[in-house]
Amino acid sequence: MESKITCIICPIGCEMTIHHKEGLITKIEGHQCKKGIGYAKEELFDPKRTLTTTLIVKDGELSLVSVKSNKPIPKDKIFVVMDAIAEFEVHAPIEIGDVLVENVVGLEVDIVATKNVGKTTIKACENEEFIRVCLLLNLERSRNTHHVLKSNTFQDRQDLPYIL
Ligand code: SF4
Repeated sequence: MESKITCIICPIGCEMTIHHKEGLITKIEGHQCKKGIGYAKEELFDPKRTLTTTLIVKDGELSLVSVKSNKPIPKDKIFVVMDAIAEFEVHAPIEIGDVLVENVVGLEVDIVATKNVGKTTIKACENEEFIRVCLLLNLERSRNTHHVLKSNTFQDRQDLPYIL
């Protein structure tokens, strides 16, 4: 059997052809160094990927923090991990490199922050009050706009008395 794999270990990006039979590599072509052999073996029989995603932040100046796995995760476990951390909430302040989820789903892989998120200075209740005030201001603004429009219409009509 023959598989084509591009080595991504370095920017050269060797296009390799791997000949294999019953789970054993018989020949590799196209690689320029030994690292390609290791990469080909792993990619063929035990592919892994570094996971990058976001987690929900409580009390933060941002509501999400970008994160990544500190080690590559077996490709067939990526969605298991995504499901496990989908509802996970972390608390600010957060610094780059902080371990936010330890040993996720027992894979001996940690999920670490890749962004700083400071603690919000607005308390939850203040935040709600702030949103309420904004909504009221918007409402008032739209009322005024309506009033101006009505006034203009009236003014227009006064300018055109023959309509009345
Ligand atoms: S085989 Fe070696 S030279 Fe080629 S891409 Fe991989 S690491 Fe780079």
